Amino acid sequence: MPLQEDLRQLFLLDQQLRGMRSRLDSATTRHQRQLKKLEQSNRQKSELADQYKQAQVKVTGLEKQAAEIEQRITTLREQMNTVKNHKEYQALVVEVNTIKVEKGKSEDQALEHMTKAETLKNELDAITADVLAQEKLVVVAENEVKTCRAELGKQLDELTAKRDLAAQELPTDVRVTFERIAVLHDGDAMAHIILEDRKNMEYSCSGCYMQQPIERVSALMSRGSQITCCASCGRILYLEPELKEAISPTK
Ligand SMILES: [Zn+2]
Repeated sequence: MPLQEDLRQLFLLDQQLRGMRSRLDSATTRHQRQLKKLEQSNRQKSELADQYKQAQVKVTGLEKQAAEIEQRITTLREQMNTVKNHKEYQALVVEVNTIKVEKGKSEDQALEHMTKAETLKNELDAITADVLAQEKLVVVAENEVKTCRAELGKQLDELTAKRDLAAQELPTDVRVTFERIAVLHDGDAMAHIILEDRKNMEYSCSGCYMQQPIERVSALMSRGSQITCCASCGRILYLEPELKEAISPTK
């Protein structure tokens, strides 16, 4: 096989490998993201549960206080029936009125805290439902990772072996150049020629879309054993078999 074809094969295997790995990577990322979200919701849930508990304790305390005040008022009213003079009676009236104000305050506060507790309860119910839904999503994401691993594991190993073999078949300097350019372009060491305009013989690079001189395309047609790079992005250029066939002068 001419060098150009060997390189193209290696490039295609590389692309397949990256596609496979990215499927597994994105499944793993999704799983981790779901886990993190669940963790956040659980934290929020436990904070709300604490706040709700505190609000309930407060309400109970205030209700108890109001009941105690009520009891004192009853006692004072009974005393009023047994007083001996007007002065004592007046004093009791003043005391009862003062206590009534206190009772009103307690009741208002209890109501306020009850409203607060109710709001917290609603929020707690909502986050509890959220947590349940998220737990299900975590399981789905986890299964996806497992399925992906099971499906891809063997294929990945096989493809990696094939890819490594294809790389070994290349001359060392070519392989080194290929790997170096791949690193520069996120794995895309190569780019194919795009036919822009047949009549005006306009071609471009699929990596950077810069126009390519006809001489470069001709070199690719005739010199199959040499590396031809895009002068603009540096990727190794190749001709898709279909294009090569279409622009072949013998045709
Ligand atoms: Zn280019």
